[in-house]
Amino acid sequence: MDLKKFFYKYILRRKYYKYGKCIRCGDCCSKIYVNSRKNIIKDEEEFKKLQKLHPFYSYLEIIDKDENGLVFKCNKFDREKRICTIHKTRPGICRRYPSEIIFKMGAVMSENCGYYFKPIESFKEILAKELNK
Ligand code: SF4
Ligand code: SF4
Repeated sequence: MDLKKFFYKYILRRKYYKYGKCIRCGDCCSKIYVNSRKNIIKDEEEFKKLQKLHPFYSYLEIIDKDENGLVFKCNKFDREKRICTIHKTRPGICRRYPSEIIFKMGAVMSENCGYYFKPIESFKEILAKELNK
C-alpha cells in the first residue's frame, strides 16, 4: 500500500480521494440546507435559535422550503464577481467544502462543482477482500 493511501485510509479515515478545484459557480453558497442534531432544519423558529450559536447562521437567508426542509442562500456571496466576500475569514465548513463528512450527513454535491471524488479502494480490491474472508 502506498503512503498516500495509507494516510488517507488509516489516519484520516477517508473512503474517497478528492480531486479538482473550485470553479466559483457559487452553487454551494446558493442552495444550502442546515443540519441540527442530524436533522435538516424545517422551521424558522428552530433556525432563529441556531443563529445565536454561530455567526455563520446570520449570513444565511431563507429562500425556499422544499420536501427536505428550509433552503438558504448565503448573503456573503457576491453574484456578480462570483466570490465569497469574506473569503479569508469564511467559516471552517466552507473551507473544507466539499468534504466526505457532509455527504455522509446527506448533502448532495452540485452538478456544476469543479471537485469530484474517487474511491480510495477500487471495486476489484473490495471484491478480492470479500472473497478472501
Ligand atoms: S461564507 Fe462564503 S464560502 Fe461560505 S457559504 Fe457564504 S459565500 Fe459561500
Ligand atoms: S459548488 Fe464547487 S465549484 Fe461551485 S463554488 Fe462550491 S466548491 Fe466551488
